[in-house]
Amino acid sequence: MSDLRKIVSIVVPFFNEGSNVELFAQGLVPILAELTDISFEIVCVDDGSTDDTLARLVALNKKDPRFRIIELSRNFGKEAALTAGIDHARGDAVIPIDADLQDPPELIAPMIAAWRAGAEVVLARRVDRSVDPPMKQHSAAWFYRIYNRLSHLKLPENVGDFRLMDRVVVEALKSLTEQQRFMKGLFAWVGFRTVTLDYQRRQRASGTTKFSGWKLWNLAVEGVTSFSTVPLKVWTYIGLAGALATAAYAIFIVARTLIIGVDVPGYASLLVAILFIGSLQLVSIGVLGEYIGRIYMESKRRPTYIVRRRHGGNDEG
Ligand code: UDP
Ligand code: MG
Repeated sequence: MSDLRKIVSIVVPFFNEGSNVELFAQGLVPILAELTDISFEIVCVDDGSTDDTLARLVALNKKDPRFRIIELSRNFGKEAALTAGIDHARGDAVIPIDADLQDPPELIAPMIAAWRAGAEVVLARRVDRSVDPPMKQHSAAWFYRIYNRLSHLKLPENVGDFRLMDRVVVEALKSLTEQQRFMKGLFAWVGFRTVTLDYQRRQRASGTTKFSGWKLWNLAVEGVTSFSTVPLKVWTYIGLAGALATAAYAIFIVARTLIIGVDVPGYASLLVAILFIGSLQLVSIGVLGEYIGRIYMESKRRPTYIVRRRHGGNDEG
């Protein structure tokens, strides 16, 4: 280690987490106090909260200036909020963590130990998700299974955004310029020497989850389309298989008509074939639409987030 004191940035996205602000600080500060040979900054991103989250964060910053606040102009979503926090972090390592204490701050010390031992990325893996509803556990398991089939990029299972990243990793991450950011994918894409620690996922300290089934579905679609073109290409093969089956069937009905004669009934099979092929075409157009929509949004080159104001860290105003 160099003579200079190392700085570690803790990055926390807050969206309507008013009831968690003090709980979070109370959970985190004693843990940081034990790590006496490291300086910390806590980059709190207020992701357009409509409750008293911002006021409470500002109060926290007045008490303890290590808590810096990045105030976004509206709700941009967790991926954008994380991006904002990571962009503003100045530490030699960065640790994104949820505001609801579901990611235990106790893991920060072992993470830092692994980092000092040479790891560039320290992942935190949930060994037990039993606090999540069964629906979420199943859908998450399926997501990883399908995702890792579809994409060359292998996402480590049961690993969220909670992790430690060295400055080199952060700089690599910042060099990825896409505006729509699936952070789990981007984190995995940059690579680097990785060590994994296990932990038990906890209950939310307070408040409720911000991710509905629909939001999670969209995140999953974003994840797949960001890192795989398999859904685009698969239609070639589905179409080929359909054409082959149709050719075989065509030979069969033509031969049968020649041998047995004209067979008029066939209403059911015609209708089924038309509806089935029609639906298949709509689905494939929909998949095209997902990708084209993303190309369109990306081509506008809008920023991922807009900062209204920063509090603390000598860049007040
Ligand atoms: N979050 C955010 N913007 C959003 C939604 C969530 O910054 O639009 C934050 C939220 O405040 C929390 C973290 O992302 O700190 C994880 O959210 P949550 O606990 O609701 O997700 P879950 O743990 O249920 O997956
Ligand atoms: Mg949570």
